[in-house]
Amino acid sequence: MNYKGAAIIKALTVTDGEVKVQNIAKPEPAKNEVLIKVSLAGLCNTDFEVIAGMIEFNGVLGHEFVGEVVNDPEGELEGKRVVGEINIPCYNCSRCENNQYRHCKNIKAIGMRDKDGALAEYLTLPRENLHIVPETVTDEEAVFTEPIAAAVEIAEQYHLKPSEKIMIIGDGKLGLIIARTLWALGFNIEMIGRHQKKLDTLKPLNLKTYLEKLYTEKEPDIPVVVEATGSTSGLKSAIDLVAPEGKIIYKTTTAKNHDMNLAGLAINEIQLLGSRCGPFEPALNLLARNNFYLDKLITEEFKLDDSLEALKAAREKSSLKILIRP
Ligand SMILES: [Zn+2]
Ligand SMILES: [Zn+2]
Repeated sequence: MNYKGAAIIKALTVTDGEVKVQNIAKPEPAKNEVLIKVSLAGLCNTDFEVIAGMIEFNGVLGHEFVGEVVNDPEGELEGKRVVGEINIPCYNCSRCENNQYRHCKNIKAIGMRDKDGALAEYLTLPRENLHIVPETVTDEEAVFTEPIAAAVEIAEQYHLKPSEKIMIIGDGKLGLIIARTLWALGFNIEMIGRHQKKLDTLKPLNLKTYLEKLYTEKEPDIPVVVEATGSTSGLKSAIDLVAPEGKIIYKTTTAKNHDMNLAGLAINEIQLLGSRCGPFEPALNLLARNNFYLDKLITEEFKLDDSLEALKAAREKSSLKILIRP
């Protein structure tokens, strides 16, 4: 490619399923946008769905990041350390008029839909998407803001009561972040997983955890179960564990098909509830006020140049969060 005259940056891109580190033109902030220098970015399972073509997208990958605003045409954010919300709504369609911004009919989403992502030296984002990171929150913590925000939303959108027991199924990154977040919000959390090592990352929080094969409760009647595995067996367990008239929060966006009997949902009058993104401001407050022991979730950090290796490491079963530093 020829970028004569244009400044060039490095980025991890996907083009028709082919992933590579390449040089691209440095993005220019459009109207109402700022330019951000990425300090640290995280890999997420959604990135693999983009690569696999389950989410159709060509461009720069990645949506979890922390960075510094290096060019704000209006000046107010310049020099600030920020994290950014993923969704860019049009503020114009019927859903936006209805305040359903993340269901906007013309939505863009960084690293996923019509907007380059954060696995690059720089990205641009609208000013409204940005949140200033409190000083006491490190980059290594702030990079988790997006998944923590998504976990905050579970409690907020379905009005969960702190007195109710919540069982989380799945000890992957997602489940372990949901557990930390609901713990910080004061909920009574337990977790079922398959990997003792991953469950052990919750030890400093004193949470009750069980290995799936050792969990023997017959009629547990748990009021709220969070399904964070994306697997058919996880959803089956959720239906088995939840109390009649209880809630199952379906948290994964894995594009897998489930072949299973759903009669239990009707018989026990269970609510199966979907949940996706959440509010950044409370997530940053939680991070500033609590120790989430997120260091225990970081498996390894790679340079942007070594992104292909980072993707490989993230696919390992034993791995949790993989970070990339441009
Ligand atoms: Zn993600
Ligand atoms: Zn809209």
